[in-house]
Amino acid sequence: MELVDAPHSKCGTFGFVGSSPTAPTPLMQTYKRLPISLVKGQGAWVWDDKGKKYIDAVAGIATCTLGHSDRKLRKALINQLRKIQHVSNLYQIPEQEELAKWLIKKSCADSAFFCNSGAEANEAAIKLARKYGHKERQIDRPVILCANGSFHGRTLAALSATGQEKYHEGFKPLVEGFAFFKFNDSASFQELHDQIEANGPRIAAVLIEPIQGEGGIRPGNKKFFKLLRDICTKNKILLIFDEVQSGMGRTGRLWGYQNLEVEPDALTIAKGLGGGHAIGALLVKNNANIFEPGDHASTFGGNPFACRAGLTIAKAIEERNLLEETLSRGKQLREGLQSIVKDHLDHLEEVRGIGLIQGLVIKNQSDLTSQIIVEEAINQGLLIISAGQKVVRMVPPLVITKRQVDFIIDRLSKTLVNII
Ligand SMILES: *Cc1c(COP(=O)(O)O)cnc(C)c1O
Repeated sequence: MELVDAPHSKCGTFGFVGSSPTAPTPLMQTYKRLPISLVKGQGAWVWDDKGKKYIDAVAGIATCTLGHSDRKLRKALINQLRKIQHVSNLYQIPEQEELAKWLIKKSCADSAFFCNSGAEANEAAIKLARKYGHKERQIDRPVILCANGSFHGRTLAALSATGQEKYHEGFKPLVEGFAFFKFNDSASFQELHDQIEANGPRIAAVLIEPIQGEGGIRPGNKKFFKLLRDICTKNKILLIFDEVQSGMGRTGRLWGYQNLEVEPDALTIAKGLGGGHAIGALLVKNNANIFEPGDHASTFGGNPFACRAGLTIAKAIEERNLLEETLSRGKQLREGLQSIVKDHLDHLEEVRGIGLIQGLVIKNQSDLTSQIIVEEAINQGLLIISAGQKVVRMVPPLVITKRQVDFIIDRLSKTLVNII
């Protein structure tokens, strides 16, 4: 029997009135996909279906902490599948408790809630902030302050917290209760704060990335973050860090906030936590630990399989010295990128980043775009990703080797020579 047969319509007429004239596709057109199909991986190498090999500086968008097909992760997950995969949060889950204990021991937080993605972790944080505002500051309609250029995810509240207009287009009305200041700009923050609090408490929380990722790889400024901490502490406002991309060792420290010497009251994590498997978490300090039974939930969140992935990544970070490795490889990558900038001063501006999240910034006046570079890099056997139109992002697996970093630099040089 044919499941997919001649293009007769399931909706009466072929296509919808007013829809685009292109033929329907089995997948919704939410992504502009590159024309390669990756079918195999090993560490920081991946292969497409034609057998072409690439060095992977994308790592599933900063998720594949141990690269691809890691032997220990594979074994741990197969063993977990043999035992039990999912039970729901109706029951106690030892793997979840063990992972929570590790995260708490290794961070400033005291307690964890598990979900499945970055956006969901931020949704949990936003709900937490609102409850905190009502309860601790007696605010009727709490406001959360966020930064321009931020990225917090695609669900409606996370999208509303995202300070980039291009993501909002077509989806208004957004969720109310968010206001924006300029990232790393103390005056802008102070002004927004004073304006909103002019007639008494209205701010529940500040939600911010310690290093902006999608927004163009912008590390937070220590002085600015200290100001945020001071104002939040003084006024009993929650300071929440979105560490979905910066957490789990990406910057060469376990948490991005360690680079800023400021601790948040809560943080959200996801990308690197599962090494490519879906898991996210909201971590809170005691003062922000205000959810009660019934306040929040997730069917899949923190199931034994996902937590086994997280536990295996946690163990690998410790046992394989991945933080130190990330610092050394990050330094090497950064120096390589800086030498590339020197070779192309007409087009390239600078290198921004910490550890193994690095951005190559294209000059505004250059007609180069990150997309042009990403596409040519594929021909050169290099996978990279953009962070906005003018920044090329590199977020390779934390297990990348010295020779592989050299390879990235070599391929990126060839890529640029070909298109400049
Ligand atoms: C990727 C990302 C998110 C969204 O995570 P999803 O898992 O795609 O929902 C949120 N915040 C930051 C900082 C991110 O980099």
